[in-house]
Amino acid sequence: MKTDQIIALSQKYIMNTYPRMPVAPVKGKGCWLWDADGKKYLDFFSGLAVTNLGHAHPRVSYAISKQAGALLHVSNLFQIDHQAALAEKLCQNSFADKVFFCNSGAEANEAAVKLARKWGKTHKDPDCYKIITMEGSFHGRTLAMITATGQEKIKRGFEPLIPGFQYVPFGDIVSLKEKMDNTVCAVMIEPIQGEGGVRMASVDYFKELRSLCNEKRILLIFDEVQTGIGRTGTLFAYEQLGIEPDIMTIAKALAGGLPVGAMLARDFVADTFQPGDHAATFGGNPFVTFVASTVLETLFQERLLDNVREVGRYLRSGLEGLKKRYPFIKEVRGQGLLLGLELETEAKPLVMACLERGLILNAAQERVLRILPPLIVSKKEIDQGLKIMDEVFRGI
Ligand code: PLP
Repeated sequence: MKTDQIIALSQKYIMNTYPRMPVAPVKGKGCWLWDADGKKYLDFFSGLAVTNLGHAHPRVSYAISKQAGALLHVSNLFQIDHQAALAEKLCQNSFADKVFFCNSGAEANEAAVKLARKWGKTHKDPDCYKIITMEGSFHGRTLAMITATGQEKIKRGFEPLIPGFQYVPFGDIVSLKEKMDNTVCAVMIEPIQGEGGVRMASVDYFKELRSLCNEKRILLIFDEVQTGIGRTGTLFAYEQLGIEPDIMTIAKALAGGLPVGAMLARDFVADTFQPGDHAATFGGNPFVTFVASTVLETLFQERLLDNVREVGRYLRSGLEGLKKRYPFIKEVRGQGLLLGLELETEAKPLVMACLERGLILNAAQERVLRILPPLIVSKKEIDQGLKIMDEVFRGI
């Protein structure tokens, strides 16, 4: 099928929930995509922070075909070798003691909220169930997660929402402290607000947040669905903040493009869940967990975290260079290969103009251009991307 046919078919049969771009990628290799008409694109979006090893990485492709021929799925009522092995890898490389597997970021966050509520009710008080989240946050699209999300436009039309969520401005420790009473069981926060427009808070803020949670016996949940699996230059973004959460959620890049989510926790919280408390039919099946283990091994063996730090700095300095030349760029922000340009103009027309020239970027909020290259990206590819941005910005 050609692009026009795919667009017509989608418009007829797919529910209209995404503002889709008029491009139909059908093949990928590394940082590159080809559409149905044969046009080539440099992918600086990675399927929204998912294909961190790029497209068709040989080790991932091999793992997929190997496990597809061995075993795809058994119920979680059985012991699952690859699930246990992946959980061990995740725990050995993080603060966590135990893992619960599911299929997406929203689902991982749902699991975190359920765990935190049960912990609060069991270990503190039957009325201790509230969760504080941040204005500008994004936690997913289920009913509880649009409630958790601190953006009105995501909730509109879906009320009544779920009781028990409260919101404070991101980075404002005073407002947070005011809300931290005995009814609060957890604070849920992204280390960097990705969907919110690549917004950051200071290391000091996160340190104070951690000590307030300790002082008031409130759980700290980090949503690392977007920042996790190497995106910011460490396996998890919390490592650069000098603190650890009690619960963390991950998804997106964990299995290199296969659907997976996970909720990780310290034993003192994780032990609250008992058989029958939570479940997911597909969660952590042999197929996705084998592939996810391969993704993690590849990330370490190919020293991709070093690459993220080095190439991330290189991209950032290129973006700073663009900022000097183009006054409509207000700020360059982010970490590693999760970068954003805050603009004085709308980001969408720039995304479309870059797309036209073969570069895939994304608009996060109205005025932020988000840049999420695969973690394998080279300096040469960064130069190619920067050149296209330069050409597009010159025409503004
Ligand atoms: N949390 C964060 C920080 C995200 O960025 C996203 C998705 O963009 C989600 C949760 C939801 O993940 P999913 O779409 O896999 O449910």
